[in-house]
Amino acid sequence: MNLPTPRPDLIELVGYHSPQLDVRVRLNTNESPYAPPDEFVDAWLDALRAAPLHRYPDRGAGDLRRALAARLDQPMERVFCANGSNEVLQTLLLAYGGPGRRALVFEPTYPLHTHIARLTGTEVIVGERTSEYRVSPTEAGILIASERPEIVFLCSPNNPTGTVEPRATVEAVLAAILDHGPGLLIIDEAYGEFADWSALELVADDVPLVVTRTYSKVWSLAALRLGFAVGPPALVAEMEKVVLPYHLSAATQIAGREALRFDADMRDRVGMLVSERTRLAHELALLPDLTVLPSGANFVLVRLDGDAHAIWQRLVDQGVLVRDFSRWPRLEGCLRITVGTPEEDDVLLGALRGVLEPSGIEEER
Ligand code: PMP
Repeated sequence: MNLPTPRPDLIELVGYHSPQLDVRVRLNTNESPYAPPDEFVDAWLDALRAAPLHRYPDRGAGDLRRALAARLDQPMERVFCANGSNEVLQTLLLAYGGPGRRALVFEPTYPLHTHIARLTGTEVIVGERTSEYRVSPTEAGILIASERPEIVFLCSPNNPTGTVEPRATVEAVLAAILDHGPGLLIIDEAYGEFADWSALELVADDVPLVVTRTYSKVWSLAALRLGFAVGPPALVAEMEKVVLPYHLSAATQIAGREALRFDADMRDRVGMLVSERTRLAHELALLPDLTVLPSGANFVLVRLDGDAHAIWQRLVDQGVLVRDFSRWPRLEGCLRITVGTPEEDDVLLGALRGVLEPSGIEEER
């Protein structure tokens, strides 16, 4: 074999994999079911036409960061932008993790926290959640005191459980980090706008807290890859040092800035999805052998008493794709359903009824 071997710590690593299938109703990746308004697309393309495409983009993404900061009511120096919140997380781990350093995650949670930590040579420490998938402030405090991790991840609302951590938990974790640090608390709020509170209000120049967010969900712009962090300016300066020059294309920067002018449309979409989440959860809860977990995001996790993988397959056979977590540790029997349009959700509910209700089984035979 003439080919070189990769870094030894990468050999065991499996690439991130989220199965995609060509189906009628796709409720598996927590995207928005609604496209952004046509007026936004026109405004974006007009601005892009006027941009000097033969020049590198603004390295500091000044216009975008200024506009975002104004919308968030934060100083611009606290805002960092990158290609999706995954790149934001990677940048944070490159700057504050790395060989000899450790990151604490509370499982089950977004698998990319562990994956990106490992890619950056950061060791991962695993904390457990309560039976309701919450982070226990007491347990977290004990772990932080004994392990003294450089990074602590909280994901709120948590993917894939939908759990929103209360402010008291975030404050307790922060207090433990301040007592036993130095350490950094990263709160992944990819679904933050769907929840009833945000840790953004706790961000300050001298607090070791950074909140990450994305345009992929509420802004309906998953295809464009834009995410951002809000944290102390000193932290943002370190992230700017680490990230590759000109990493954020002019097309992405302009889209992020123009999207903000359609804030009202975004809020309407969030409102529709939140009320549709309530309806979907209510309808799901009426089904036999199924438990719906409370969610503050644009998806709901359900636990099935039967063979959840077989049920997932039967949904696929009917053209409905949800995310199968049933074989993941701590998520036995669980499927995650992204909130779609009412029409898509009705197709899902009809298919599930057919699978779970005895009369449905008779009909299928
Ligand atoms: N954080 C969480 C919790 C997510 O679920 C996702 C997307 N699935 C991301 C971050 C990454 O989003 P993006 O890179 O598209 O901004």
